[in-house]
Amino acid sequence: MEILVKQGDITEERVDAIVNAANSSLMGGGGVDGAIHRKGGPKILEECRKIREREPYKNGLPTGEAVHTSGGNLPCRYVIHAVGPVWQGGSAGEAQSLRNAYLNSLKLAESLGAKSVAFPNISTGAFGYPKDEAAKIAIQAARDYAHSPTRIERVVFVCFDEENLRLYRQLLSASSPKDDAR
Ligand code: ADP
Repeated sequence: MEILVKQGDITEERVDAIVNAANSSLMGGGGVDGAIHRKGGPKILEECRKIREREPYKNGLPTGEAVHTSGGNLPCRYVIHAVGPVWQGGSAGEAQSLRNAYLNSLKLAESLGAKSVAFPNISTGAFGYPKDEAAKIAIQAARDYAHSPTRIERVVFVCFDEENLRLYRQLLSASSPKDDAR
């Protein structure tokens, strides 16, 4: 499984699955969530509503967990909706929740047969997670996942802002020169 980084808009990624930095309501929001629903069309929201009608999601999707819908009008087959933690200072289990959001998304992508998965920088926008800490957790989660046999071939971290791009490039090239840190 190769781990790549690029700058861009995740809604344009031609991969099997993109991950949405959703909130627990699954009813849409700002940031990347807003962009996904805007470009993906109403089908994705409709599928999210159906998920919310069933147990165990009637009260929302818990932090760290992930569910999937189709990609609607997007060029991906699936959208994986993962809920990252809201930053509360760092001692409320945020790191473990963020790691879980990445790992559960990868597990779900794998179970869907996805070979390529694109991630946004979960929790680093409205949820206020410090970008450097979040980048370390995201990359470590992907590397740890890749230590076990997997059929996922490619994970792409799609950074929207320059700061995240710089952090991901630095972290990916510093500790593993083999990684393609474009
Ligand atoms: P959260 O609530 O999890 O913090 P946000 O959507 O506010 O989610 O921010 C998460 C990250 O997604 C931020 O780094 C933001 O810059 C980035 N982002 C916003 N729009 C897009 C997009 N279209 N594609 C990729 N990343 C995006």
